[in-house]
Amino acid sequence: MGKWMKAAVVHEFGKPLRIEELPKPEPGPGEVVVRIEASGLCHTDIHAAHGDWPIKPKLPLIPGHEGVGIVESCGAGVTEVKEGDRVAIPWLGYACGVCEYCVSGWETLCESQQNTGYTIDGCYAEYARASARYVVKVPKEVDPFDAAPLTCAGVTTYKAVKVSGARPSDLVAIFGIGGLGHLALQYAKIAGATVVAVDLFDEKLELARELGADYTVNAREENPAEAITKLGGADAAIVVAVSPKAFEQAYQALRRGGRLVLVGLPAEGFVRLPIFETVLRGIQVVGSIVGTRIDLAETFELHALGRTRVVYEKRPLEMVNECFEAVEQGKAKARIVFQV
Ligand code: NAD
Ligand code: ZN
Ligand code: ZN
Repeated sequence: MGKWMKAAVVHEFGKPLRIEELPKPEPGPGEVVVRIEASGLCHTDIHAAHGDWPIKPKLPLIPGHEGVGIVESCGAGVTEVKEGDRVAIPWLGYACGVCEYCVSGWETLCESQQNTGYTIDGCYAEYARASARYVVKVPKEVDPFDAAPLTCAGVTTYKAVKVSGARPSDLVAIFGIGGLGHLALQYAKIAGATVVAVDLFDEKLELARELGADYTVNAREENPAEAITKLGGADAAIVVAVSPKAFEQAYQALRRGGRLVLVGLPAEGFVRLPIFETVLRGIQVVGSIVGTRIDLAETFELHALGRTRVVYEKRPLEMVNECFEAVEQGKAKARIVFQV
């Protein structure tokens, strides 16, 4: 337990990350320092490193918001967790706790929020500092390497399925079977829906079938909107693909009264919607951003009950740049989790 730690750092948008030795963080009041065991690679980390979005992250930046590890030290006034607890450090790194959003169950909309691995340093490191109030305890039944992808991919899609309103008689389409999508389809199944999975790669669709998808569509070979319309149209479509085209196809796959849930955040961030059809067909369009601490606790609970399967490949943090490339090319199997 020296004073230094290894971390992967973004210095310039679009340039490779550098593995560096940095001073180990110290916990301030209300904060903890966590010794990271497992750190998931979310596609958001790639967007952050590329500076893809209208709001840019801090630079230099340690990315990563699927960090799981053991609380090593607590700052003054910490009561929420104690040394030795296993916790998850999610995207919602901090919220004010007192605004209208925070007190009404929508802390993920807090205007004073800080985001792990974006506005504050994250978990691509041996140690991470976090607000004790916003880490979430990992139940002992949940393996840390399963817990990491659940910390963003899991909670985000668990919430998106709630937002979709999916019910047992519904047909739910999931566009994009990557880190988020492989879990989205499982939550839609848990909600009782019939699921159609859409991706560009056969291996991803094979995985989707293994995980319970009832139908699959390869969007390179077939128009997904037509294929899903033949099945009666989707009551809800959840889009976690990193491509505006997928959002338009998902819109066209909806039946009357259907709901389009936007989750993926591609760099070129616009979709064209026909006003006339949206109005006459009573279509709903809604954005869904991660989930609250309670959503994450529920996500862990479902996993502890054996109701979800997390598919991941372990990699050393030193391979971060190769791993980014593999995810961008659709070559990674569901999630990559760094062993740090
Ligand atoms: P990923 O790269 O693991 O998965 C994306 C999947 O989409 C891949 O399987 C890819 O093959 C597939 N895909 C790409 N183009 C497609 C198309 N045209 N049609 C169908 N499938 C297509 O990425 P991820 O980590 O699952 O993240 C997905 C997106 O969600 C990213 O943009 C990420 O930033 C965003 N995200 C949003 C939230 C949120 O709260 N809204 C949270 C986490 C991640
Ligand atoms: Zn994420
Ligand atoms: Zn708030």
